[in-house]
Amino acid sequence: MATIPENIQQLRARMALACEQASRPVHSVTLLVVTKTFPAEDVRAAFLAGETRFGENYVQEGLDKIAVLDDLRSQIEWHMIGPLQSNKTRPVAEQFDWVHSVDRLKIAQRLSDQRPAHLPPLQLCLQVNISGEATKSGLTPDEVPDVARAVAALPRVRLRGLMAIPEPGDSLDSQRQPHHALAQLLQQLQAQGLALDTLSMGMSGDLEAAILEGSTMVRVGSAIFGQRQRHASPTTPIGQSDDTSTA
Ligand SMILES: *Cc1c(COP(=O)(O)O)cnc(C)c1O
Repeated sequence: MATIPENIQQLRARMALACEQASRPVHSVTLLVVTKTFPAEDVRAAFLAGETRFGENYVQEGLDKIAVLDDLRSQIEWHMIGPLQSNKTRPVAEQFDWVHSVDRLKIAQRLSDQRPAHLPPLQLCLQVNISGEATKSGLTPDEVPDVARAVAALPRVRLRGLMAIPEPGDSLDSQRQPHHALAQLLQQLQAQGLALDTLSMGMSGDLEAAILEGSTMVRVGSAIFGQRQRHASPTTPIGQSDDTSTA
């Protein structure tokens, strides 16, 4: 099996090619390395290969890795990308840099209230259920404008943009549709005067489609670390019911 640095190099080449095909500069797309279920040593290996942004889905697992990798804390950005319950917001507000999975105003209010004053504002994205799947969390597109305005007014957080986990599509065209819809929604919010700059979309299986549609941050796990074992968590993470079938 290829090593983590080799996989990162390949992935970076894949992202560069997608940017070229989208006529976009390579630096316009940030890589968020998704480390859920993988040990802290793998995070360190990716860090030593030059990566500095890491995404976790489960609060406790993320906190454990942040603690183990404390020596790197000032050089790493930690992103919470998994479903967040309101009774779990405090450690996230205290320890993470970003939260991509804000799916209701109450979560953002709690994160703002609980963000320590000595830290910069917590960076937020609203998660949107862009494919309209009944089982997935995320705001419906209709709900987004009101929630976005309310979140943007909170003092200790900064709303950066939108995140989605679209239904897997089997062709480039079918994959582009939900990414296109999320990009349109971001543009709509920008036209209403919100200063947003982040489209968190694209994973191992669909990052080309996401980059063609304007993604500014792709979240990639299995293309770097290999297949995940099914997580022993009582809650299935969003969009990962097909964990074992993704490339
Ligand atoms: C697991 C996960 C990813 C990464 O998915 P891969 O297919 O392994 O690249 C991205 N975003 C979210 C929200 C995830 O839960």
